[in-house]
Amino acid sequence: MNIITAFKLFTESLIALEEKYTPLSTKREPSVKILKIPRREEVEVGEEWKVLTPGTRWECLKCGDCCRRPYRVNITWVEFKRATEDQEMREKFRVDGVIIDPETGLSHPFFNISGGCPFLDPETNLCTIYPKRFYTCATWPFLLHTDGRIYYSTECPGFGRGPLVDPWKVLSDILYHRERAGMITEEDRVERAKRWIERNFGKKKRYLTPEEY
Ligand code: SF4
Ligand code: SF4
Repeated sequence: MNIITAFKLFTESLIALEEKYTPLSTKREPSVKILKIPRREEVEVGEEWKVLTPGTRWECLKCGDCCRRPYRVNITWVEFKRATEDQEMREKFRVDGVIIDPETGLSHPFFNISGGCPFLDPETNLCTIYPKRFYTCATWPFLLHTDGRIYYSTECPGFGRGPLVDPWKVLSDILYHRERAGMITEEDRVERAKRWIERNFGKKKRYLTPEEY
């Protein structure tokens, strides 16, 4: 099968998919985006992201802002499969499109949450699928960059309030959710955490799993 036939088949399957899952809004992005997915070393952090440093305080104010902003929630195919198979999630789950890297063939679905994610309870501002939420959601407002540092988004109003942020807890959560989204294996998760801790804190410390917190 040549690449044009493969792409045509892919587009047709996407249309079928769209018929099944209602678009989130009428103001839509193109459903198939041909974009280069950045390689590890090419990922740039936007200026709204700051490096997490000792003394940073944060608490979630439950304002729901992050679930209403014009963000694109990128999801993995593992998460897509889980959402379409889960009785509770599939009722509201929608995709707005798929991003395809023309060079590598790598792809992932996405949905837009501008104006309000379908999983957001507008009265409580809480996520109605919280334990099953997507990697992008679960790790917000933190980001583990390929430069080995943890960043936080200044777009979240919860920074500067609440308790001190424990970077180990943040790291544990990020790696746990990467594994859950099919991005890494459990072995990778522990190894990466060990290397990160050694690099940032020396060899004496121990990686704690999210369950140990
Ligand atoms: S924007 Fe920040 S404070 Fe508001 S709900 Fe999201 S994580 Fe919590
Ligand atoms: S899935 Fe949940 S956490 Fe993610 S954007 Fe929607 S309401 Fe927010």
